[in-house]
Amino acid sequence: MKSSFHSNLINSPFDDPCLYIRILRENRAILFDLGSNYSLEPSKLLKVSDIFVSHTHIDHFIGFDNILRLFLGREKMLRVFGPPGIISNVEGKLRAYTWNLVGDYPFVLEVKEVSGDRIKSARFVCRDKFRREDITVDSPFKCVLMNEQLFKISAVHLDHLIPSMAFSFSEDFHINIKKDALLKYGLHVGQWLGELKKHIREGKPDDFKIEAPSGDGKKIFRLNDLKNDIVLISKGQKIAYVSDVIYSNENIEKIISLAEGADIFYCEATFLEEDIERAREKYHLTARQAGELARRAGVKRLEIFHFSPRYKYREELLYREAMAEFGKV
Ligand SMILES: [Zn+2]
Ligand SMILES: [Zn+2]
Repeated sequence: MKSSFHSNLINSPFDDPCLYIRILRENRAILFDLGSNYSLEPSKLLKVSDIFVSHTHIDHFIGFDNILRLFLGREKMLRVFGPPGIISNVEGKLRAYTWNLVGDYPFVLEVKEVSGDRIKSARFVCRDKFRREDITVDSPFKCVLMNEQLFKISAVHLDHLIPSMAFSFSEDFHINIKKDALLKYGLHVGQWLGELKKHIREGKPDDFKIEAPSGDGKKIFRLNDLKNDIVLISKGQKIAYVSDVIYSNENIEKIISLAEGADIFYCEATFLEEDIERAREKYHLTARQAGELARRAGVKRLEIFHFSPRYKYREELLYREAMAEFGKV
């Protein structure tokens, strides 16, 4: 089934973490993590509407400046989600510059700080010299950060000596039209099919009436009849992203439930198992641990990244170790 989004790590596994997810149908993109992003063309970065930051260690947040500079003169709103402290982190970044000549720039930055059960928000408006505006009403947080018509983004807090967030992106089901069945009914392809898909996604009742162009006129159908005869519904894709966590029982449990059944699991694998003590000290995973998480979560594909520079020119060892444990060599 053709997917309606693409995902890729924009840097080499030895460079900063940043996952670009392009939502094809909406000509829009989101980012998981905000490491250096100079490797991506500005036109691609300008499609970004939402950014999800795992934590603000420099290798996960230094890309903020490039994004800020690109978006500055645009009539756009950018949302940044992150762990406790993210509002002050963004504020600190904005305070580092002088904003006396940006008087009429319309850019707005909205920051969402996600704690165990609440989401606190603040806005920074360029016209207002990025003065912090706290939004007084918090919203509740129960695993889901964003729930749109095409996809949902969930998150969990993990332990990296500080809270580090892991994310999943789950696409809603796909709705495809069976062209041969359309012909059988004498129906034409057209805008009404978009409406039909919308009604199905919105969960309209079975006896909801749909008008469809047929011959020179129109025919009325029950939604359920069209669903049964001309529509093919299939499961959407899921990806999960985990970066910078220690291998603790609590983290393992949360990661497995977040990544369960993912089509692609992006997981950090900073060290080799032979350096497990170093991994523990630094609150990172080994390649074998990434492989075990992938296997236990039943994912289809594992992509490891965030390699320590000590393995430069030996990265094959990391891939081999992870894949041997995952069981899909
Ligand atoms: Zn890192
Ligand atoms: Zn880190």
